[in-house]
Amino acid sequence: MAAGFFLATSISFVPRIAAQGPPARAVVPKASKAPARPKLVVLLVVDQMRGDYVDKFLGQWTGGLKRLVEEGAWFRDAAYPYAATETCVGHATISTGAFPATHGMVANAWWDRQDQKMVTCTADPDPNVKNIGYAGATPKGADTAWRMAVPSFAEELKFQTSGATRIVTFSLKARAAITMAGHRADAATWFDGGAWVTSTAYGTLPFIEEQAKSRPAKADFGKTWSLSLPASAYWYGEKALGAVPPDGWDLTFPHPLRGKTAVGEPDNTFYEQWASSPYADTAMTELAERAVDALKLGNSNGTDFLAVSYSSVDYVGHEFGPRSREIQDILVRLDKDLGNLFAHLDQKVGRGNYVVALSADHGVVPIPEDMQQAGADAGVLHLPELQERIDKSLEPFNYAKPAVARISGSDIYFAPGVYEKLQQDRAALQAVFDTALAQPGVAALYRAEDLRDRPATQSPAHRAFAYSYFPGRSGDLFILPKPYWLMDGTPLGKPRSYGTGHGVPYNYDQHVPVLLMGFGIQPGQYFQAITPADIAPTFAALCGITLSSRDGHVLAEALMKPRSFSSPPRTAAAQAVKTNP
Ligand SMILES: [Zn+2]
Repeated sequence: MAAGFFLATSISFVPRIAAQGPPARAVVPKASKAPARPKLVVLLVVDQMRGDYVDKFLGQWTGGLKRLVEEGAWFRDAAYPYAATETCVGHATISTGAFPATHGMVANAWWDRQDQKMVTCTADPDPNVKNIGYAGATPKGADTAWRMAVPSFAEELKFQTSGATRIVTFSLKARAAITMAGHRADAATWFDGGAWVTSTAYGTLPFIEEQAKSRPAKADFGKTWSLSLPASAYWYGEKALGAVPPDGWDLTFPHPLRGKTAVGEPDNTFYEQWASSPYADTAMTELAERAVDALKLGNSNGTDFLAVSYSSVDYVGHEFGPRSREIQDILVRLDKDLGNLFAHLDQKVGRGNYVVALSADHGVVPIPEDMQQAGADAGVLHLPELQERIDKSLEPFNYAKPAVARISGSDIYFAPGVYEKLQQDRAALQAVFDTALAQPGVAALYRAEDLRDRPATQSPAHRAFAYSYFPGRSGDLFILPKPYWLMDGTPLGKPRSYGTGHGVPYNYDQHVPVLLMGFGIQPGQYFQAITPADIAPTFAALCGITLSSRDGHVLAEALMKPRSFSSPPRTAAAQAVKTNP
């Protein structure tokens, strides 16, 4: 399948023949016997795409998602093995091939014990770093991958090969664009305050500036997101039960992108609506296509890297839940965008010259009110209430208030010195456990010291917390909620500002699609249990490089046998395409 590229590269390596002397026969140097490599590696992450969305909605797709399933390798039992199923964690895992206990990105944000404040996974305190904007934007903050403890696949590719690799990533979220790229990149671009931005750790590219000016998000102001299929094609009711839509939107279609007031200029509400609509996915697809054109990705001597994390499915899922027409429709639109992207890559890079992986950073739990309606044991685990009760439980034991510094997701952080004292104070620690386990929705509580060293002889839930544990950054105690109980940090007495969420070690958050297609990939359906940490090692195997982490493994079952990619029979590519997975 890569024979054309293989020959072309070999010829370019042939030394120039001297003008004097007898004509020499062109000798193909030994280097040309190395296996061919993909010209371009494409990583696609659909933020919050549950694994079962493929099974449910495949029949309605006609574009890129359908093509990935039919022409690619579909891993049907792919799941994160760890507990902290959040965006920064998932993207770093896909990017590095390591679990959070290794790469250190343990959450979107965690409690910084030194500074006694929350920090985001990409916030960089280096005063020499700052975020910069395209098209005149002036973003706040400074975001880099400095907290990611191992290099990304893309960084390793550039470092271990000739250095010709170009690294370009896009997402609406900094924590996705940055972790997919790594510590340095030609461009890592995200969306903030209505503009495309990056930081001084990364390069800026003229084509992004041009696109930011000629095709800004505000060009979609006044558009309307309507259903793209006949109403009868949708699985769920008009109104998702328990949904919390963005300001300015009703619970039912159509959803207008007109901001808060519906008149005048684009405001912050408009940008929230835009990010929660298929228009943001289309804008990122266009940016990816411009990157291919402007940089001629896939047409250099090296292997280039292009990554896009589609964030809008996540926003829509948080607002409307997984059982909504909104989720179904935005996937129909994304399928079309991806179809366009693959057609563009076919044309500019060549079918079979690039390899694609598509996955997700985590899934999502159904909206608790929706699940309760179905009769299930589901509910909301109120974290501020739990924090208050733990503090109260320690009063009789003479602990200064507040004893709990922060509960962030599953992680309970105590005030300085408190946990060290508790470890020596069995009665007080027992009181904390009794209190936590009495809180509605809590299934279990784990201690940090039980999670170190990731021993294999643990229950799956216990092991999941161990895979997420990074000393210094993770909490002191860890909450395992009951299945279908949503952990919620909304202050007491205030209404929830979102429908549902994710971040726990249950399959609805852990199970995601893994689809591979293109160079070196053997199409078919694969049922063995794998994790998204296997994507980077598989890319590494195709590109002939080595990753530092052994957390993931090569998906060898989905790779074409070496013979077929050194000297493929002429019909191999055609057969591969026809194979009905
Ligand atoms: Zn996410």
